[in-house]
Order: sequence, then C-alpha cells, then structure tokens
Amino acid sequence: MIWWALLIGALVVIYTQSDAVRRYSVSLTAIAKGINNTPTDPDIIARLEWMATQEPAILSVLREADPLAHLTSAYRCPELNAAVGGLASSRHMVGLALDFGGLADEVAAATRLRANAARLPPSLHFVYAELTHIHAEFHDPLRKIDPNPDATRYSEQTPGGSSVSLG
Ligand SMILES: [Zn+2]
Repeated sequence: MIWWALLIGALVVIYTQSDAVRRYSVSLTAIAKGINNTPTDPDIIARLEWMATQEPAILSVLREADPLAHLTSAYRCPELNAAVGGLASSRHMVGLALDFGGLADEVAAATRLRANAARLPPSLHFVYAELTHIHAEFHDPLRKIDPNPDATRYSEQTPGGSSVSLG
C-alpha cells in the first residue's frame, strides 16, 4: 500500500515539475522561428521549477487590480532571447526572470508590487515596467549567480519611478 502511495506521489512530482518547465519554455516566437527553447541545463530547470513556487504570490497581488494579469515570458534560450531583442545579460536566459502582461498600466502595477513587498517572496529583488509588461527578477536560489548589476542601472535610468527595487 505504501509503495503505491510513494509511486503516485513520485508521478505527481514528476508531472508537476515538467509542467512548470513546459509552461516556462513555451514561446510563440520560438515556434514561429523553429527555435528549440527547451532547457537542458539542470540548474536552469531547477530554477524554473523553483520560480513556479514564487509566481503565485506575484500574480495574486497583480490580479487585485488587473484580473487578466498573466505570464507572458519566462525562459529564453540565447537564440530566442536574441530573436525577441532581449538584453545580452537577460536573466530570462538563466531562468531567473518572469514577465507579466494583461496590465492596464505597467508603471502602476510595478508600483503596486513595491507597495505590497511584504506579501511578495523575498527572492523577488527587482521589478521593471516595460511598455507591454512588467519584468520581475529573482535572486538565484542556487546561489551561483549574483543579482543582476543592470537592475540598479535600470532603476537609475527609468523616469517616473517605473522601476522598483524590492531590496
Ligand atoms: Zn523580462
């Protein structure tokens, strides 16, 4: 009996993990351009699975004002990142960034996240408002990658407080 429970538990874990990786690597641009955006690096896969545990708290805050808020981009292999015009240092390539769209006002959404920082994962260290989405970056749970130095640069250069450092 216990073996059946363990087997079912293992299958649930496997299914959940691959679901997070699948959801975070699907990309219409990758499909259109024939780019294989499926990660194989175990560190990236581990980060994607971990980000899936951080995402609900962010969406929860966003959806209080924007019920249609949703994930628009997560993992990007270097080829896909170049295809979408991402920065060469983009944290999307290492599995440490999520983009959210469906927002009425990206700057207001980033500001709301800052106001609700206490309800958000401490791992979320930086939120940046873009024209069509907000970009959220995380500290590396594997502690192999330092926080993005560009995060500070964005904060300094963005007018109107549209970027938000969560500390
Ligand atoms: Zn982004």
